Amino acid sequence: LGEIADSLLERVETATERAGAWFEPSLRIGVTGLSGAGKTVFITALAASLLHRGRLAGFAPEAEGRILSAGLGSQPDPALPRFAYERHLEALTAVPPRWPESTRSVSQLRISLRHRPAGILGGIGAGGVLHVDIVDYPGEWLVDLPLLEIDYDAWAEAALAAARSPARRAHAAGWLKALASADPAAEHHEPAAEALAAAFSDYLARCRRAGLAALAPGRFLLPGDLAGSPALTFAPLPAPEAPRKTSLHAEMRRRFEAYKRVVVKPFFQDHFARIDRQVVLIDALGALAHGPRAFGDLMESLEGTLAAFRHGRAGWIERLLGGRRIDRLLIAASKADHLHHSAHGALTRLVEAMVSEAAGRAAYRGAELRGVALAAIRATVEHEASAGGRPLAMVRGRRADTGREIAVHAGSLPDDPAALIAAAADPGTAAADWPDAAFAQIPFAPPRWSTDAGKGPPHIRLDKALDFLIGDRME
Ligand code: GDP
Repeated sequence: LGEIADSLLERVETATERAGAWFEPSLRIGVTGLSGAGKTVFITALAASLLHRGRLAGFAPEAEGRILSAGLGSQPDPALPRFAYERHLEALTAVPPRWPESTRSVSQLRISLRHRPAGILGGIGAGGVLHVDIVDYPGEWLVDLPLLEIDYDAWAEAALAAARSPARRAHAAGWLKALASADPAAEHHEPAAEALAAAFSDYLARCRRAGLAALAPGRFLLPGDLAGSPALTFAPLPAPEAPRKTSLHAEMRRRFEAYKRVVVKPFFQDHFARIDRQVVLIDALGALAHGPRAFGDLMESLEGTLAAFRHGRAGWIERLLGGRRIDRLLIAASKADHLHHSAHGALTRLVEAMVSEAAGRAAYRGAELRGVALAAIRATVEHEASAGGRPLAMVRGRRADTGREIAVHAGSLPDDPAALIAAAADPGTAAADWPDAAFAQIPFAPPRWSTDAGKGPPHIRLDKALDFLIGDRME
């Protein structure tokens, strides 16, 4: 009898624990952005700041002393790879510090925060727990959502027109040559399909190296674990006059449909649809440095990204994206530490203008949209110099490539961001007055910082971003 009672007791206990876990709220925060935008650094810095409880004056629950403890929680989704927090932190805190390896696929990290509510309720009880689940995924994959709404021929026509556009022509030469010697009506022959897919991938990669952003299909740039699979071995071809089931064109069309079915749809269904709040990182300064075409392309990809969060799509896509709604969307221009703080206002205005231009008048499922300029890890310090008797606001840091300490004056960002955005939309006329943003390409090495308790990594406005993302859920 004692044994039965014990096992009953045990069962009751596990049930209560489960119920406890059930009632502990979780908040799923997606972090995305194109490759190199700063996702890995952002997530590592965010986690380190919370776990080491440092430099979070702009995060109300921490500033008000309401966080009782913060720790890494066990992974809620066993099938999803864990974000390699420790490995990335090790790189950032090595001697000398290194930037971590960038995001290549989807991963997740759970941070569990035990906290007291704000106000008079704060003194009562043991407080609550909020599990913050951060989901990291390449922005390249988001660009694929519109593919679900079009068929192969419509996609191929648009992709071919884009390849011939002034912004891309030069990068497309090799691929267009391969295309010219291919016959879409010919019998499908695998080596020909592979060669075309390789030439098409190479064209996309060249565009990316030139700073262009709006490049689908996303897995051609970041295949995750799908490199070389048939679902990724296709390319756009013009429609032949007499369609045949066994032609190269028909095979490409089948693969395009397979890509949508086995790659794009599952990603949106399994990961994207479950996100509560989203951070989109953009390297706006990097795109400025690449010139008006790259900046115009970043605008286009931002529009595409924001469109993924918009309502009013075809019913089946709304269903695919599930019932959960994103209620906060943060668009963050990263690497603001390339600028002296006196220029941060101009960068913030630029991001805000980009966001409102890219968002248009669309409804974002009731989501609150905010633009911010931040540095997840601040690699520079401010440096005041003078030139010809006039003060010069600079930033100083160590170059990652040469190891030399340098000071840079960023020049000034234009006061009127609207003019920049308009110029990027018509790049032929813009080149002359485009601001020189070469400073944004300086690869500063990460700073040294202490990981003692109370000492998070140096940053710019990471705490404010955190407050926007989770502050209200800890009140
Ligand atoms: P991901 O591809 O989006 O994961 O990008 P990463 O987080 O790996 O960042 C790409 C690179 O951008 C890093 O290796 C750094 O060189 C640089 N970077 C990212 N965040 C910052 C930042 O806050 N400040 C500075 N100075 N550089 C950054």
